[in-house]
Amino acid sequence: MSEWRGIVGQGFRPSDFDRYARTISFMNWRPQFVVLHNTAAPKLADWHSVSGQDRMLNLANFYQNVQRWSAGPHLFVADDQIWVFTPLNIPGVHSPSWNSISWGVELVGDYEVEPFGASVRDNVVSALASLHSLLGLDPSSLRLHKEDPRTTHNCPGKNVVKADVIQRVLDRMAALTPGEHQLGATPT
Ligand SMILES: [Zn+2]
Repeated sequence: MSEWRGIVGQGFRPSDFDRYARTISFMNWRPQFVVLHNTAAPKLADWHSVSGQDRMLNLANFYQNVQRWSAGPHLFVADDQIWVFTPLNIPGVHSPSWNSISWGVELVGDYEVEPFGASVRDNVVSALASLHSLLGLDPSSLRLHKEDPRTTHNCPGKNVVKADVIQRVLDRMAALTPGEHQLGATPT
């Protein structure tokens, strides 16, 4: 594949992530929807055995030198921080059919076996609300990696319920834009 595109490698609390995302220019690439993943390995139970910064470096090494991809997913959402991996304004590599038209968002954890707890869930709902508001996207367009016909992975695991995630993102966006519940409304 083409040359490694580099990473941001920065972790944010949800409100700081929202502010960060609003500073980004999408002149050259605008995704149409989000593809949701889970890391499977590492599990959430193992994630904090090394620092988040080291996780970013290890993942960069994995995607660049082991997978030999040009990039990875855009976000890794843990129970404490939202980590920006691939810059949000360039295509990532995470879902074969949809890399050129989607953001890839990884939940940290293996949700085939781990419970999808409130900390990771609330952080991803916040991150997804920010991303969808940013480009005026409809959260109902969210896809799971396992819905990609060219993928054999069961990703994310069964404890992530798509309709529940979408409803929570819609509720969050509605709460953030009082009086302006229609999608695509300019966030204030
Ligand atoms: Zn996946």
